[in-house]
Amino acid sequence: MKKIMMTTPVVEMDGDEMTRILWKMIKDELILPFVELKTEYYDLGLVKRDETRDAITTEAAEATKRLGVAVKCATITPNAQRMTEYNLHEMWKSPNGTIRSILDGTVFRTPITIPSIKPAVKNWKKPITIARHAYGDVYKSVEIRVPGPGKATLVYEGADGKREEVLVHEFKGEGVLQGMHNTDKSIRSFAHSCFKFAIDTKQDLWFSTKDTISKKYDAQFRVIFDEVYEEYKAKFEELGLTYFYTLIDDAVARVIRSEGGYIWACKNYDGDVMSDMVSTAFGSLAMMTSVLVSPDGKYEYEAAHGTVTRHYYKYLKGEETSTNPMATIFAWSGALRKRGELDKLPELVRFANELEAACFDTLGEGIVTKDLAGLMEGVAPQAVNSADFLAAIRTRLERRLEV
Ligand code: NAP
Ligand code: MG
Repeated sequence: MKKIMMTTPVVEMDGDEMTRILWKMIKDELILPFVELKTEYYDLGLVKRDETRDAITTEAAEATKRLGVAVKCATITPNAQRMTEYNLHEMWKSPNGTIRSILDGTVFRTPITIPSIKPAVKNWKKPITIARHAYGDVYKSVEIRVPGPGKATLVYEGADGKREEVLVHEFKGEGVLQGMHNTDKSIRSFAHSCFKFAIDTKQDLWFSTKDTISKKYDAQFRVIFDEVYEEYKAKFEELGLTYFYTLIDDAVARVIRSEGGYIWACKNYDGDVMSDMVSTAFGSLAMMTSVLVSPDGKYEYEAAHGTVTRHYYKYLKGEETSTNPMATIFAWSGALRKRGELDKLPELVRFANELEAACFDTLGEGIVTKDLAGLMEGVAPQAVNSADFLAAIRTRLERRLEV
């Protein structure tokens, strides 16, 4: 078979631990035999991040801005224990945080669903994608433990001298106080990313806040979304998509009653909570994909899970591991499909689709990693190790590509 050609490279961000092992296996088994792979490689493994004083992470994000499409392996976010384990110069920040702030993007999380793994909500038939606004609100708030009686006010002092003050509360006794903010710029970026991703994946977009109660703060989110929607309205109508805004309580009720198959955009806190609920209800963290989309249309694909440390330590001891590579494979297929669409390479798009189809063939026949074996209904699962699982996918991929 002639290998599939690429024109523009994909930004490849390598990572840590078990997912780093899987990364190489996926490339060797499922990508390199079929695609004349072009990547710009950045090693975001913790050793290299420490060696470069984390400059490599910034370089990788800048490369994504330049080239438009990236695929990232899970990486360790250092904590005190990692400082000793890796003898680090500094407790480097989360690479995902660094990349997100450089690209100013929104993270979209979508479960990979298969018929034999039933969601906890029985009417969900299609995946639900959660888009979480990743800036501000309670995550960048300041707080005071109020010690006793007194007056709390909210004050704004404009650079132009304009002053606004409102009473928060006259405390009669002890209490708590919190101040939080967001910016129009960040909300606008969030809105652009959401509308772009909806068009890209041809799904409806839902957005919810609590603007009946929060008449200025949450209402501003709705106003900005309405404004930004005007730029995308024609495209939405052409594709037969809908955007609608509703209250968060109404959204929750509708989500549970729905069949799935749409994007639910949430404020920071709502997205934090709802993404954990929705992903758990769909079955497995190992089957959750994630893509960062910037407001100007740059894409970084990854798995939602971490580096699967516990499996890595088993692997280091020479024990057999059955780590699920699905979300990481879908990060690769997502990135290659996007590259193919942007560069008008139908063969590359077809490869990405067939790779995903080969994964579904494998799972459909009951060949699964250990984590899924207990979740399946209606098929007799055969749990295999990661290498055998990838080999089974390869056989089916070759059949589909008629190699
Ligand atoms: P994790 O790597 O997601 O793993 C948590 C547990 O979930 C695993 O021990 C495993 O359960 C199960 N699991 C997750 N992915 C799986 C897969 N592909 N196949 C099978 N089972 C899977 O989270 P963590 O242990 O909290 O974090 C480990 C490291 O990852 C940390 O250093 C953290 O900083 C980093 N992290 C990175 C990212 C990222 O780069 N996007 C995200 C989250 C965490 P069992 O052990 O029960 O089999
Ligand atoms: Mg959370």
